[in-house]
Amino acid sequence: MCGIVGYIGNRQAEPILMDCLSRLEYRGYDSSGIAVRENDHCNDINVYKNAVRVAELKEKSPHLNGTTGIAHTRWATHGPPSLLNAHPHLDCSGRFAVVHNGIITNYQELKQQLIAEGHDIISETDTEVIPHLIEKYYHGNLEKAVTQAIAVLKGSYAIVVLCKDEPKLVIAKMGSPMIIGISDCEKFIASDTPAIISYTDKVIYLEDGDVGVITENSVAITKNGEEIRREEKHVDMCKADIQKNGYAHYMIKEIHEQPRVIRDMIADNALLTTRLTISENVQSLSIIACGTSYHAGLIGEYVIEELLGIPTNVSFGSEVNHRRMIFPNEVIVITQSGETADVLTSMKTMQKAGVKLLAITNVPGSTASRISDRTIYTKAVLEVSAAATKSFIAQLISLYQLTLLHPFVDPKMREILAAELVSLPAKVEKLFDLEPQIMECAKYLNQCTDVYFIGRGINYPVALEGSLKLKEIAYVHAEGYAAGELKHGPLALLCAGVPVIAIAAQDSNYEAMLTSIKETNARGAFVIALADENDKTIEDSVDMVFKIPHTHYLLSPVLNTIALQLLAYYTAKLRGCPIDFPRNLAKSVTVE
Ligand code: GLU
Repeated sequence: MCGIVGYIGNRQAEPILMDCLSRLEYRGYDSSGIAVRENDHCNDINVYKNAVRVAELKEKSPHLNGTTGIAHTRWATHGPPSLLNAHPHLDCSGRFAVVHNGIITNYQELKQQLIAEGHDIISETDTEVIPHLIEKYYHGNLEKAVTQAIAVLKGSYAIVVLCKDEPKLVIAKMGSPMIIGISDCEKFIASDTPAIISYTDKVIYLEDGDVGVITENSVAITKNGEEIRREEKHVDMCKADIQKNGYAHYMIKEIHEQPRVIRDMIADNALLTTRLTISENVQSLSIIACGTSYHAGLIGEYVIEELLGIPTNVSFGSEVNHRRMIFPNEVIVITQSGETADVLTSMKTMQKAGVKLLAITNVPGSTASRISDRTIYTKAVLEVSAAATKSFIAQLISLYQLTLLHPFVDPKMREILAAELVSLPAKVEKLFDLEPQIMECAKYLNQCTDVYFIGRGINYPVALEGSLKLKEIAYVHAEGYAAGELKHGPLALLCAGVPVIAIAAQDSNYEAMLTSIKETNARGAFVIALADENDKTIEDSVDMVFKIPHTHYLLSPVLNTIALQLLAYYTAKLRGCPIDFPRNLAKSVTVE
């Protein structure tokens, strides 16, 4: 979601900013823009922006001469995507340019005040008040003016400010991520490490309340007016991961990477690579997450309760922030990016209440990993496609591992599941043999307007995840239901030919699942089942079956989800959807 980059150094800023910006495209955005401070006696700030993709920005932008600049990909929160609403935003005099990620919640009040004071505000964004506030407070010292401006802001922000009169960048952060990339004679600013990783692997992570003054040779950070030292960290991120490696989309590449991800996570012994587990003395547990990570949490709940007998509940980050919540003394948070705003807010509240936080995230150095007491890093490596695939499977593997390591697990069960985990990558590879059949099924879904996914027990969250994938990338209306709930309402919608995707794992729910399938059959639905390869009877009850390699039922969500990822992918492909960058969606949801 929304990307920020900044550059100050001894090279032309424009090509570097454009390159960095294109590396943030995967996060999802609707507009882009750039501002460069000219290297001549006037030092004018030249801006080019619009509701366009970065490629078009690059192509249409006039040459912007200068070695200091800022750029932005916007994910609109206030005001539709348009030229006027795109960032950078300027003050009245064109002396200051600002890019901003986040939301200024008191912008209406500030806007009215500024207008009354004679400022001409031309966009519908919450952001535009910032350059005007800086203009108001500027008396020859940009850092001071920015500090005064942010003092009146409420909400979340990561901002980079460019000033015609001062050869520097001033940055500030509250609630939205921001990093500084360090290199000799040049500095980079970004909202996310992939933006700058091909220029430097040395970064400083800013903390909330930090204000930084950046020149090509120096970084000075203050917090509450006091100078502060922030450690320089080395980031290890394989540059090659940003390539598609011959695949048509990042999503299908990432789906196919899943055997590798599981192998990396389990190495030779399924349990040795993770040493973290739930504390022995916890009476109950909560898991907090959003979107696909929430579905991983629901599967985690099932596994923890089944194997450890510890009562567990799973909540959306966006919900717990707005209610009275009684937290247990240990909470697991799951966030792919480690920057999910709703999750971070809940983490801060829980931290204040003394809750011990265990984060599961894919991004080393991310805010979630810095706030939490302990972190499990999933080894999915950078995931570019907006739809989570390999990061979801990696979250599941982490949840299995942290549960299996707990001393409450029956040793025999631990042995069985650990061995099953080791055999999973080969089973995922075998599952890929189903791709031609899945493509055929996608042809059927392509003609439909509504699709129902049903599951029971540990595969109920898989039904939710399968329907989410289809919605987000293929734009097909889909619902995920606990199969037993069909008769409590959704059956009213079933009629001849409506596809129902039924996940029929070999567990204690199997018979009940067959009953649900019969109920949908009776209404003329077109039933597509995901069944164990050893299931010899299901064919009699359904219209199509995907035979899924056999595994222990507690691990079956891994294989079933991957089959549904492929189904969503091939349906979206037939429909000509922009699979990796679905409309209105962002990879890392950094606003609440
Ligand atoms: N709230 C700002 C806007 O709508 C910034 C959005 C973003 O973070 O991209 O322009």
